[in-house]
Amino acid sequence: MGPIPAGFAADADGMLMIGGRRADALVAEAGDTPLFVYDLALVDAKIARFRAAFPSVHLHYAIKANSYAPLLEHVQKHVDGLDIASGGELGFALEAGADPSTISFAGPGKRDSDLEAAIAAGVTLNCESEGEAERAFTIGARIGRTPRLAVRVNPDFEIKGSGMRMGGGAKPFGVDAARVPALVRRIIAAGATWRGFHIFAGSQALDPAALIEAQRATVALAAQLSDQAGEAPPLVNLGGGFGIPYFNGEQSVDVEAVGEELERTLRNRPQALQKTEFAIELGRWLVGECGVYLTRIVDRKESHGKTFLVTDGGMQHQLAASGNFGQVVRRNYPVAIANRFGAAPEEDVTVVGCLCTPLDRLADDVAMPRAGPGDLVAVFLAGAYGLSASPQAFLAQQAAREIVVGAHAD
Ligand SMILES: *Cc1c(COP(=O)(O)O)cnc(C)c1O
Repeated sequence: MGPIPAGFAADADGMLMIGGRRADALVAEAGDTPLFVYDLALVDAKIARFRAAFPSVHLHYAIKANSYAPLLEHVQKHVDGLDIASGGELGFALEAGADPSTISFAGPGKRDSDLEAAIAAGVTLNCESEGEAERAFTIGARIGRTPRLAVRVNPDFEIKGSGMRMGGGAKPFGVDAARVPALVRRIIAAGATWRGFHIFAGSQALDPAALIEAQRATVALAAQLSDQAGEAPPLVNLGGGFGIPYFNGEQSVDVEAVGEELERTLRNRPQALQKTEFAIELGRWLVGECGVYLTRIVDRKESHGKTFLVTDGGMQHQLAASGNFGQVVRRNYPVAIANRFGAAPEEDVTVVGCLCTPLDRLADDVAMPRAGPGDLVAVFLAGAYGLSASPQAFLAQQAAREIVVGAHAD
């Protein structure tokens, strides 16, 4: 059934418990399936683990992983900044109560209206090009506000083995490293507030050695760019890229090992970065494991010797679990029958969604306890890139609901 993350157990009835609540009770409370449940206590545990491993590094949350308002309001209070990548996310971040001076806005294709909203709010823009910086100067002058600008660097390296490549070579993200010093000087000469560098070298990396190497290279690049620009960066956002294990055989990131090495690198950092602060921005690692997608079996059918469990959910809510969000070869996310959680597998089944397309599969040939109409399927690792990264309107099926559990008074 795959690598079900820690923190989930069954009650005496065999019902999956999420944040101390029965899965069926959560469905009743939310009103119906399909339902995403996010256990905030699991997010808090991740934040605490990061703090212990990286005592001198700021923690930012990349909200595109999950911007569900109750989750965002909670996470916002416990991290040092939010990283956003659209004008819409700027609205979510401000609505969640984040201090604008701790928000940074990356992403190509920022419209003038996005730049204006960010500058007016006092949010840092991670400039993706020289042209974007020039537009920010013009807009700042027009509205009488000084833009806070960082430069997103397109580094000449990427995290080895990372799932999604975002640095190295020709990229729509960031400014090629060789052109960054001139842009830094231009930002300062134009009178904008210089905020530093954003260097993101990849995502979904599990190998601590690859993360350590990328972080070392990132710190070295930041020092080199500072020397060339003749200006020290107030902040260097080192990117993130910590992955989570989705498939059998994958190991979770040894963040303590990564933290020990980064802390050592930072203690011995070059002179140019003595006064610089550092941040790591994480999405998936913080929230991916806290989420469970619950969907109800509507039909059980046989075809040419295969058993299909047909559910009321699918790729319209969990595109990533269907294998259509960046995977080259489709593999199953961890799944279980929520009302027979922990029961021994009895048969191989294929779990599909309710969309009329062969792309809509939630689990292929997976060993499960026997289940049929009315039973609940739980798809784990649904806390990041779930609903917000899925084509919800496709085929106009039942909308998914969302709920948080495990919140304590802050
Ligand atoms: C998507 C993204 C992240 C978050 O990536 P995760 O794999 O979810 O941690 C961080 N920074 C930038 C610039 C991104 O585009």
